[in-house]
Amino acid sequence: MVNIYLKPKKEESLLRFHPWVFSGAIGRMDGQPVEGDWVRVLDHEGRFLGAGHYQVGSIAVRILSFSDCEADRSWWERRIGRAFRLRQTLGLVRPGENDTFRLVHGEGDQLPGLVVDVYGETAVMQAHSVGMHQERQLIAETVQAVVPGVRHIYYKSESTLPYKAPIDPQDGYLIGGPADGEHLALESGLRFQVDWLRGQKTGFFIDQRDNRSLLEHYAPGRSVLNMFCYTGGFSVYALRGGAERVHSVDSSAKAIELTNRNVALNFPGDTRHEAYAEDAFKFLQNNREEYDLIILDPPAFAKHRDAVRNALKGYQRLNAKAIRQIRSGGLLFTFSCSQAVSREQFRLAVFSAAAETGREVRILHQLTQPADHPVNIYHPEGEYLKGLVLWVE
Ligand code: SAH
Repeated sequence: MVNIYLKPKKEESLLRFHPWVFSGAIGRMDGQPVEGDWVRVLDHEGRFLGAGHYQVGSIAVRILSFSDCEADRSWWERRIGRAFRLRQTLGLVRPGENDTFRLVHGEGDQLPGLVVDVYGETAVMQAHSVGMHQERQLIAETVQAVVPGVRHIYYKSESTLPYKAPIDPQDGYLIGGPADGEHLALESGLRFQVDWLRGQKTGFFIDQRDNRSLLEHYAPGRSVLNMFCYTGGFSVYALRGGAERVHSVDSSAKAIELTNRNVALNFPGDTRHEAYAEDAFKFLQNNREEYDLIILDPPAFAKHRDAVRNALKGYQRLNAKAIRQIRSGGLLFTFSCSQAVSREQFRLAVFSAAAETGREVRILHQLTQPADHPVNIYHPEGEYLKGLVLWVE
């Protein structure tokens, strides 16, 4: 491994276990690492700080270990094994009831650059760094060895790897590959068709599981509007919870197709549900109907810091429209998954939206991502999902 020596005083964030080394912190190297290689990081006096994947770019090293280690198969087995045991402890591995969970959540599992979602017999793997890309086969074999029942590993990194890197990532199966047919995931006793080949991210948003359960609790007898429904996760939980009727909206026709299929899988012939392929803002503009419960789970409005101002305006506009259409004594589940937007900023945007409508609004719950998307306490940037449940008088 090449040794990388930091400039004086640049070791402080690593001593506090923050896992990123910025390129500007590097003083010198005793060799030239190839992108994706493991490197050792030392302070300017040669004291060991950590080891991890080297990359060309503003984050030059993603630290994988704060102790000096041999990054061999047994290291990967220990690290991924630890991630799996956490998911067992969380009660997410319940064959026949729940086989869907995030196995590896990047920095949250001390594996920056790697995401692995498990859907029953298939795990979908995403690399965000060249190092994880280079080690993909070993990682896939380790996941299969660690998680009982996983037979197929699909690699989906064409859109997540840095486009400048000198690699040619191709999506495809690293292990196995199911015969054609339905890829079903089981979440809290509900079935969902997951399309990891063509779907967004790894095919399903596992991160809303706990929030869907909370929604189910409030669903009985209510008319529900699920905006930005994607696979219809919130809609299916609302139906199980006893909603009087459920409308799902997404601008993507493919998402509406998936939503209809998932409703039919769980509640065949249920006439309480209808889905609309329409832009969310237009739908709220044209729809004069009122609802007892509205869900707003839009895509990230701000992918970068410089987009935050516009994103906040977008959240305010969207939430104001929704709050106006909630019946008295109704609820709004509203989310932001923009990492660049802080919890306080999001809350302020929703506050401005409420004030604009002049309605009496109270916060009942403050929501976040579930425990299989853990936040490394030394890497607070990992907290990305924020949600509020509002009571509208
Ligand atoms: N709530 C979903 C995840 C939402 S992902 C779940 O629980 O799984 C965001 C969704 O918003 C995507 O499906 C995308 O197609 C949709 N979308 C993006 N822009 C939109 C718009 N302007 N109007 C309606 N839907 C939109």
